[in-house]
Amino acid sequence: MRRWQAWALATAVLGCAVTPAAATSSPAPAAPPPCSEEPRENSVTEFTSHDEMLVELDRIERISDGRVSVREVGRSHRGREIMSARVGTGPKVVLITAEIHGNEKTGPDAAMDVLEFLGTSESAKARQIRSELTVVAMPKINPDAGELDRRGNDLTWEQVQQEFPQLRGAPEPWNYYTGSRQGDDYSQRPGFDINRDYHPDLDYRPQRADFPGASDRPGWYLSPETRTVRDVYRALRAEFGTVDTYVDLHHQGACYTVPGTDRFVTLSLSGKFVADPSTPQGAAFAEFADTYRPEYSKQLNVAAYNALQSAANRNPDFGNITLYPQDVNLPGTGLGSFQLNGSGAVLFEVRGQTQTLGEQHREMLTRAVYIGLDGILSSVASGQVNHLDPARYDQIPPTQRGDQVLRTATDIE
Ligand SMILES: [Zn+2]
Repeated sequence: MRRWQAWALATAVLGCAVTPAAATSSPAPAAPPPCSEEPRENSVTEFTSHDEMLVELDRIERISDGRVSVREVGRSHRGREIMSARVGTGPKVVLITAEIHGNEKTGPDAAMDVLEFLGTSESAKARQIRSELTVVAMPKINPDAGELDRRGNDLTWEQVQQEFPQLRGAPEPWNYYTGSRQGDDYSQRPGFDINRDYHPDLDYRPQRADFPGASDRPGWYLSPETRTVRDVYRALRAEFGTVDTYVDLHHQGACYTVPGTDRFVTLSLSGKFVADPSTPQGAAFAEFADTYRPEYSKQLNVAAYNALQSAANRNPDFGNITLYPQDVNLPGTGLGSFQLNGSGAVLFEVRGQTQTLGEQHREMLTRAVYIGLDGILSSVASGQVNHLDPARYDQIPPTQRGDQVLRTATDIE
């Protein structure tokens, strides 16, 4: 079923749309240009497919003259390769992951652009990053969803229960999709939003009592994809002591604006994903209070923000950067789990998922992600990140969502 048909059917049956909420009384300061969050059928062929990524990583490895090392680190549920590329010989590790949601496609391309730069450039900046950092990029961590061009994979709950017999009879996980979502019909091909499948305890094994779970509770490492990322993270920690920085690349709604303007948000940043484990709200993860470094996450975000603001001199779109909502508690995300384990963490939320924007603005948006990543890598490599004022993070403008309030749980991008 084509996407718009599925959406129309869902609307007809349920009597409500997937995204557009009823108008509320929050008047926008200026009327933005027309923009719609209604899912529709868009071409995505300009983005890199799974097979194209394999070719591209081979090419980058080949032209890097030994600097970039590419290897398969796992397989998806459907048997697709999950790839990791490593460049640099420095003592600080930066892990970059992208496309855990298959309809969020600028991240893989931006990550591969970073790999090509670091693998081939003789600039002083590239040399400094290579000598100070070890950069590990996993451009497509959920290739099954990527090939389906939808948020969730197509692993079924029955298959999970076969793999983990102790879960037979447990209630269906809250993040298992069997209906309609973002214009995609999951009824014939159900699957999980694996962006809630992480657990701060990297050795966690699924237990029946922990189901159905919830957005503010940890996940279970049910999917081979999240287990692969977890294994890479754990191996890097064993090798380097800690994973200094973790960046996860996503997309969000298409129609958000910068407060007080009619300019669409190019991307939103965040460095806060869980309740502080040293406070009563975060007490469930109090054991991580000593490793949690919220100020460092803020500094990393400021590094990305500053780089984008500088680039706005060339293209004002790069200046349309906002802060992602901060009132979240998401220990089941990779960002939340790894942040608790001591990594500085950065979330990129780029404008528009494929069901709303398709490949519109692809080059500009991919470039914006690249600039933000470059800002982080440069700043960590030079040590400048440690001199950035964390308070600057709190001055990044919030995201103006209009009548699209932050809905609960599964609608977080
Ligand atoms: Zn996402």
